[in-house]
Amino acid sequence: MLVHGQQISGILDFGDMVYSVAAAEVAIAAAYALLDKPDPLAVIALIAGSCHAVYPLQETEIAVLFDLVCMRLAMSVCHAAHQRRTEPDNEYLSISERPAWAALERLAAIHPRLAHYTVRAACGLPPVPQSERIVDWLQTNHCALVIDADLRDGDVTVLDLSIGSALVQSSDLTALRLEPSTLAYHLSRIGGKVAIGRYGEVRTVVAAEDGSKLTGDLPGERAALHLGIDLFAPPQTPVYAALAGIVHALSAGEAGHAPGATVLLRHATGDGTPFYTRYDGLASAEATALEVGKTVQAGAQIGAIAALPDGAAAAGSWPPHLHLQIISDLLELDAAFPAAVVPSRSDVYCSLSLDPNLLLGIPARAFPQPPASKVETLAARKQRIGYNLSISYREPLKIVRGLGVHLYDERGRAYLDCVNNVAHVGHCHPHVVAAGQRQMGVLNTNTRYLHDSITDYARELTATLPAPLSVCFFVNSGSEANDLALRLARMASGQFDMITLDVAYHGHTQALIEVSPYKHAGPGGLGAPPFVQTVVMPDPYRGPHRGYGVESGRAYARHVQAAVEAIQAQGRGVAGFICESLMGCGGQIVLPDAFMATAFAQVRAAGGICIADEVQTGFGRVGSHFWGFATQGVVPDIVTVGKPAGNGHPLAAVITTPEIARKFANGMEYFNTFGGNAVSCAIGLAVLEVIEQEGLQANALTVGSHLMMRLRHLMDIHPLIGDVRGLGLYIGIELVLDRETRQPAGEQAAYIANRMAELGVLISTDGPDHNVLKIKPPIIFSQANADQLVDSLALVLDEDAVQVGNADF
Ligand code: PMP
Repeated sequence: MLVHGQQISGILDFGDMVYSVAAAEVAIAAAYALLDKPDPLAVIALIAGSCHAVYPLQETEIAVLFDLVCMRLAMSVCHAAHQRRTEPDNEYLSISERPAWAALERLAAIHPRLAHYTVRAACGLPPVPQSERIVDWLQTNHCALVIDADLRDGDVTVLDLSIGSALVQSSDLTALRLEPSTLAYHLSRIGGKVAIGRYGEVRTVVAAEDGSKLTGDLPGERAALHLGIDLFAPPQTPVYAALAGIVHALSAGEAGHAPGATVLLRHATGDGTPFYTRYDGLASAEATALEVGKTVQAGAQIGAIAALPDGAAAAGSWPPHLHLQIISDLLELDAAFPAAVVPSRSDVYCSLSLDPNLLLGIPARAFPQPPASKVETLAARKQRIGYNLSISYREPLKIVRGLGVHLYDERGRAYLDCVNNVAHVGHCHPHVVAAGQRQMGVLNTNTRYLHDSITDYARELTATLPAPLSVCFFVNSGSEANDLALRLARMASGQFDMITLDVAYHGHTQALIEVSPYKHAGPGGLGAPPFVQTVVMPDPYRGPHRGYGVESGRAYARHVQAAVEAIQAQGRGVAGFICESLMGCGGQIVLPDAFMATAFAQVRAAGGICIADEVQTGFGRVGSHFWGFATQGVVPDIVTVGKPAGNGHPLAAVITTPEIARKFANGMEYFNTFGGNAVSCAIGLAVLEVIEQEGLQANALTVGSHLMMRLRHLMDIHPLIGDVRGLGLYIGIELVLDRETRQPAGEQAAYIANRMAELGVLISTDGPDHNVLKIKPPIIFSQANADQLVDSLALVLDEDAVQVGNADF
């Protein structure tokens, strides 16, 4: 009975209470928590580690935890079977039977000792208990040379083969492999000395088959963490056993990381603790007459470095090398023990596969400085880089490589880049990279000398534009292009007042902030200056005039006419109207029909110049046309281009008519130190060639249509999606809390963008209410990429946190 002031805050049910070990409680919780999870071991580790942090488990409990989990599920299926017999109609009694069986099958595929080590790691203990003893023993016992070179004097070259290493060029990686020629080049530079590939390095290049050996990894994570040391040396270099041991296993096949045979030797420390050394990449092991079970002396030859099989070099195999590992527990895998694992398993696997330098003794000074950690980079950035330069995502990403539609972080994890319209033809496209590298080695200077690259590029660029847009000014950024466009418009019209659209962004210079309500009407902004008229954003979904039809377009254009009249009413004239062909920061807005045509006619009638800002949308992205303004059936007076023009290289341009260009040439010289330099123009040309040769405009159309179709299916299921819109591969998904009121769901959009990044898919948010998911990937984006994007989004939309009314941010 409750006395005054007392409240029931919870109910403890002692009905099932027994006196037992605490681990039983953890095991039961884990058994049920893992039922519907793809990676049961991760669940057990998470629950055990969380418990251990507040209520420490004993090592003996940790040792039996995995068995207890399995036993619990085994009991559960037995109970269910029994109850089905006694009460066949009671479905509830066997409700967890099927998932329990499925979980048991997944658990049966996990080696119990691997589970034990994983739980130990989660509890902050050394994962493999005997590893410390093995390390101690190796540190105090002499090892024979593995090849005929004493690496202990440091006379070696340790290669940086890490994911961000410039030694591995992305152009070599179109099949994610290391070109032998690249490595051969570096080997030749070190004069035939042994070159070393590092242990614990997260690599760009991974053996394809390694990835399949582990399950339950983060999406996009690859088996990139190298568990051995590589010794690159010429074929036929003899290889010796570092330690006396017994031949444990031989494999003549491709089991190892290096092409060739594998020899596994078994050893024991002074106290009898077994461990193994593994030598991969040997010429036929049989040649040295090894036999499983036979003893090998320290320093005895066990093989020689294998030559590459015929054709392997051309197929991209690594150059000949010995891959060496020390393994504390083989987990019964023998030669199939992984040579590389996903980095998120590094704690357990670096305890299972110890640093082979314990055998080689290469001094620390021979190793290159490790790269700054993500935390260090973040701290340095906070200290030394302008404070209002924001970083995307709740958990910032350290990106060290780009290739095609993917970006890779320092842990080798691949992210599908769905938002980078700068890397238009794919990150580090080999044709573009080569064009830049080539010209960089020949000439790079300003435009005061005659050179063909600027005129060639101008010819090809203007060939994509309608007449009379035929005169180019080359600059280095979208902002510079728009800034110059404003000067052209003001000079050509003899007026100063500009008209712009609400929420538009045109760049970061003072003149552009003035015509960018996205900035001047936002935090820290000073509002529009008196010579800028802001017109309501032509948003067919949310704005005052709805729909994409001509009526809507004309209705929005009437606001432009009102702006013209407002300027004239103050006794001044219109310099121009600046307008994105599809609005980016405004929230991926597709303009309604006839908007640009009507607005341009009105502005021109008042003597103004019409500028189409194609910085975001140009170069085939919209699919149906090469330029966004063409979808509106207009020819602007000035077009500005940027972001995609150089595929990441700073290249931008203003293209205008001869008439406007003549008016601008008023005696004051136009000079731009970097704009139009030979390297930038070579790169710009290469980008145009790739778009043409790879049919990328057509790709943007087909993949964009597929993506829109799948997103609209998603919209049928999820009321959170209020609108899906876009052209080609320029797409916006507007999120609303209520489809009737269209109340923006900005917090949900932020949650989704962050969750998608966790799932390895990069998107961003924009729009005045930050509730529009922005999609504008490199236009090499494939249908499979589109499917991955939609599948990940579907997963996140199904999560409790994002459900309407359920969000807990
Ligand atoms: N115009 C538009 C439409 C843009 O989106 C941007 C950049 N987001 C710019 C101009 C400015 O380009 P940059 O950042 O290269 O100066």
